[in-house]
Amino acid sequence: MSQAEESNSFTERIAALKARIDTACNQYGKHPEQIKILAVSKTFPASSVKEALAAGLHAFGENYVQEGVEKIQQLIAHRRSLEWHFIGPLQSNKTKEVAEHFDWMHSVDREKIARRLSEQRPPGAKPLQVCVQVNVSGENSKSGVMPSEASALALSIASLPNLTLRGLMAIPEPTEDEALQRSRFAELTRLFQEIRVALPAPQQAHFDTLSMGMSADLEAAIAESLPQAATMVRIGTALFGVRPTR
Ligand SMILES: *Cc1c(COP(=O)(O)O)cnc(C)c1O
Repeated sequence: MSQAEESNSFTERIAALKARIDTACNQYGKHPEQIKILAVSKTFPASSVKEALAAGLHAFGENYVQEGVEKIQQLIAHRRSLEWHFIGPLQSNKTKEVAEHFDWMHSVDREKIARRLSEQRPPGAKPLQVCVQVNVSGENSKSGVMPSEASALALSIASLPNLTLRGLMAIPEPTEDEALQRSRFAELTRLFQEIRVALPAPQQAHFDTLSMGMSADLEAAIAESLPQAATMVRIGTALFGVRPTR
């Protein structure tokens, strides 16, 4: 990101992001209301989340359990206005924190994690909203269930009592090749449609989200978005700037 972009105010960055989304929607014949922004606040402080909230964003993504839980607690006074999404890899010994603190979990890639999340969801809490992460890049990426196994995992998650299966998520390998980006997202939407029709009617009604697209490939995600699903683009850099190295 250039220095000029770095010095933009948060409001200007949101406006620039929305303009990118609108342009892509126009280009590919999609509706901007179908594109949801998940602000990825990882590595940025609670004050950045507050700034984004004041600018009209409500959904925030974190990919480290401890960092995310700390931020949720720091912002507990705003809890009702905030929707917290866990988007990182998760070990089974950390499922309890996610089940207790987050609203959404995007990166479920095995049954054991799903079962634990359901068992550990606090009584009386709204079901945890879940996406299955699919490894659409084959050997180029480690996280996610293989496409051939996504349907079986999704169907088993749909039967767990304290989870609501909302859709599919993917993090394709980084590439500037837009045709390749699009082919990965197209694979995800193909699976989405296949799984959707296989779900029992009550669960089918909730299966409505494609978690795909980041700062560098959101146009490709919009190009492949489906009319019957919301596309949730997970945006860090384009909103908060370049992340400090950990
Ligand atoms: C960090 C992260 C993002 C945001 O990436 P940007 O390129 O900064 O927009 C999106 N999704 C996941 C899973 C991430 O970990």
